[in-house]
Amino acid sequence: MAVLPIRVLPDPILKQKAKRVRIIGDSVRKLVSDMIETMHSVPGRVGLAAPQVGISLRVIVIGMPEEGDIVLINPEVVRRKGERLVNEGCLSYPGYIGEIKRAESVTVKGLDQNRKKIRIKADELLAQALEHEIDHLNGVLYIDHLESIDKLRRIEVEETPL
Ligand SMILES: [Zn+2]
Repeated sequence: MAVLPIRVLPDPILKQKAKRVRIIGDSVRKLVSDMIETMHSVPGRVGLAAPQVGISLRVIVIGMPEEGDIVLINPEVVRRKGERLVNEGCLSYPGYIGEIKRAESVTVKGLDQNRKKIRIKADELLAQALEHEIDHLNGVLYIDHLESIDKLRRIEVEETPL
């Protein structure tokens, strides 16, 4: 396992649509374990998408204290419900936080690293993290959802979540 460096804007990989994983084999499983280690290397991180570590593949990991680690390969949002305002930040755009709209709850499906089908219905921070990380696979960052630049404010780099 290894802690991988995080790509930050304006790295072009962050704006690319990531490719679907065709074969879940050893290389994808190694990527997943490196992503989990990278996510947990700094306290407070709750998720990571493969493009953030320089791999343009549809793989995300989520690590919420009370949920355990979640791995999703080729994840898809199958349902979004409601709308709410949230504060959001991104490791690939450190030092800022912004207010955007997210769904109140989402249902997401995908596969884990053992090819098991996963289906998650989530609300609160888990729903926000799932939408945020799946956006990364489509080359979308939370700042693309800002209504205006006034909704962005500076924070300490170490405090940047997601
Ligand atoms: Zn992010």
